[in-house]
Amino acid sequence: MYIFLNDKIVPEPEAVVSVYDHGFLYGDGIYETMRAYEGVIFMLEKHLGRLGRSASFLKLRVPDEELIRRAVYQTLDANRLSDAYIRITISRGKGPVGLDPALCTEPTFVVIAEQFKPYAETLYKEGVRLIIAKTRRNLAEAINPMIKSLNFLNNIFAKMEAKERDAYEAIMLNAEGCIAEGTISNIFFIKGDILCTPSLDTGVLDGITRDLVIGLAKGAGMGVREARFYPEDIFGAAEVFFSNTTAEIMPVSKVEDAIYGAGTVTRALRDLYRERVTRYVEENRGRKG
Ligand code: PLP
Repeated sequence: MYIFLNDKIVPEPEAVVSVYDHGFLYGDGIYETMRAYEGVIFMLEKHLGRLGRSASFLKLRVPDEELIRRAVYQTLDANRLSDAYIRITISRGKGPVGLDPALCTEPTFVVIAEQFKPYAETLYKEGVRLIIAKTRRNLAEAINPMIKSLNFLNNIFAKMEAKERDAYEAIMLNAEGCIAEGTISNIFFIKGDILCTPSLDTGVLDGITRDLVIGLAKGAGMGVREARFYPEDIFGAAEVFFSNTTAEIMPVSKVEDAIYGAGTVTRALRDLYRERVTRYVEENRGRKG
């Protein structure tokens, strides 16, 4: 396996980062997760845009977009991958101990690409179990959830709760008790004929999949409501699903004790999403940066 580290492709055993890297010492850095279909990186420009936004929140100097784009495609090529999971990580870099970002002169830039491991089809057929975590989502005034940062303890605590309770994913509420998001996903539910999802001002990551799903639903003539919702709203919903780049649209069979039936709306949205991916791949085939 080959990794892009700073300015070149290296074999995985040589892709090592200093113990003085501030990403390791303080979680000072950012990342993006992407998915490639048949060699085409889905929504690459959106991911690069969000990476740039995360960087500006941290006042982190990052390589220019053109270089990142080339590095990502080079990593895919070096590993001869076409259906892949891709992660870009950029940390503050190596520097003496201390919180001041100015201690680090060069950011550390890493691209990892691995063969995409498909989720079991039974998960999509039967849906997955979710809990509502006791761990609350970070306040936007603390670590803004809009930053895809290496500081992931908030989500890790909620994921640990999910595992302890044998659930697939945990829904985090914000400090006021409104439904925010999953540990690595955005949450949707169907009520009446309306597709509901927490509004961005609830304090969530503006998922790229979330945005696509909203667009697809509106395009299909569905009503969409982005607002502040509470656990009672999801308990009374007809269908629930979560979204993210790797799982796309994943149906939910249970949230706490509330049970949801086979989701026809969820399935229809998933079909529309798959069509969108297919079209994107056709339109962008052969692009290498
Ligand atoms: N919310 C959080 C906290 C995430 O970590 C992620 C993705 O990893 C998402 C939402 C979904 O974002 P996207 O659809 O861009 O993958």
